[in-house]
Amino acid sequence: MQNRILVSACLMGHAVRYDGRAKPIVHPAIERWLAEGRLVTICPEMSAGMPVPRPPAEIAGAATGEEVLAGTARVVEITGGDVTEEFLQAAGNAVALARQAGCRYALLIDGSPSCGSAFIYDGSFSGRRLAGLGVTAAALKAAGVEVFSDREIERLIERVAQGPESGAAAEG
Ligand code: SF4
Repeated sequence: MQNRILVSACLMGHAVRYDGRAKPIVHPAIERWLAEGRLVTICPEMSAGMPVPRPPAEIAGAATGEEVLAGTARVVEITGGDVTEEFLQAAGNAVALARQAGCRYALLIDGSPSCGSAFIYDGSFSGRRLAGLGVTAAALKAAGVEVFSDREIERLIERVAQGPESGAAAEG
């Protein structure tokens, strides 16, 4: 199947967030896609060896995931630790899995410095939002995967129903 959907593990009920919790999404489409074998679950940060729980992290300096991928911004924990390398590894793992499993789409939880797609936080740990992509979301998008936030599931349903377009890069 070449039109699978990569999905954030915390959306699927896995307690893998920094605070040790999940943030499950409840929608009939999720049940249907699960039954169809269409969902491929990953927690990018855990795949890079990060523990649960872990200190909250943000992309420093009101920068975005693209800037982290370009090497011009860092990811830091509230405790001061630099976790840029782990976040880059996490993004690489997600892209590799998407390619291996034939995921043309990704359904990712918003706000995370890895999985955020509509917004992330600005690096001040003050709750200020910034429009932009997290590191994994940016890497997936660059690899040709169509990224949807958890609040865009209706748009993803429509997109999946339309079927794959030729030439998507996610097969690479
Ligand atoms: Fe959820 Fe993504 Fe954070 Fe893992 S990296 S806990 S899947 S938001």
